[in-house]
Amino acid sequence: MTGSDSTEYRHERETMVVTQLENRGIYNQRVLDAMRKVPRHLFVEKALRDQAYADCPLPIGYDQTISQPYMVAEMTQILELLPHDRVLEIGTGSGYQTAVLAELASRVYSIERIHGLLTRTMKQIDRLGYDNIVTKCSDGTDGWLEQSPFDAIIVTAGSPRVPEPLKEQLNIGGRLVIPVGDGFSQILMKITRKEDGFIERSMMGCRFVKLIGRHGWEDKKT
Ligand code: SAM
Repeated sequence: MTGSDSTEYRHERETMVVTQLENRGIYNQRVLDAMRKVPRHLFVEKALRDQAYADCPLPIGYDQTISQPYMVAEMTQILELLPHDRVLEIGTGSGYQTAVLAELASRVYSIERIHGLLTRTMKQIDRLGYDNIVTKCSDGTDGWLEQSPFDAIIVTAGSPRVPEPLKEQLNIGGRLVIPVGDGFSQILMKITRKEDGFIERSMMGCRFVKLIGRHGWEDKKT
């Protein structure tokens, strides 16, 4: 999807893929290839580039984080993306997960609630040449009705519950992955839409910043 096959930090990326992803059970070859390709160091500030491939989340400003590489890979693998899929992402953040999704699906719709963060991130996404990413600044817990239904939806912030609009905006056969729990820790849930309802599965424990919005946590600052 992009011409950015960055040779910089290639060795660090390969080590990350082998030690943090393959050794922990990430088996989907398309996901591994995307993680080998996307230059994660370009999604963090210059001072943090040498830490970009470490096994942890990193700060991206605005009290937010770029997720740990393993968590990005695990959530992406759970989505079982096909090349023609249309994906909705809630929580653009640094845009790293967005870029990984854009390598694997036909189009990615991504929503971020922090305007300054989204403006900065879009500049980077444009510089890297991604032409299949569409973003907007709003409360992603409402989903993106005009662009629905989606084959896959990923929420990259922790929610007290599964927002109903997101379930309703899934295609039949569509998959939703979302961390659900309290403000401290969550369970990664996979929800699959079937003809006659939804199947919910708990996948693993995780820890994310809060999903703030109408169907998530209340914004304490307003
Ligand atoms: N996937 C991102 C990455 O790779 O950098 C990490 C995202 S960070 C853990 C979670 C993001 O969700 C933050 O940027 C936060 O502002 C955003 N967010 C929280 N609540 C939101 C909402 N209701 N709608 C859209 N974005 C939201």
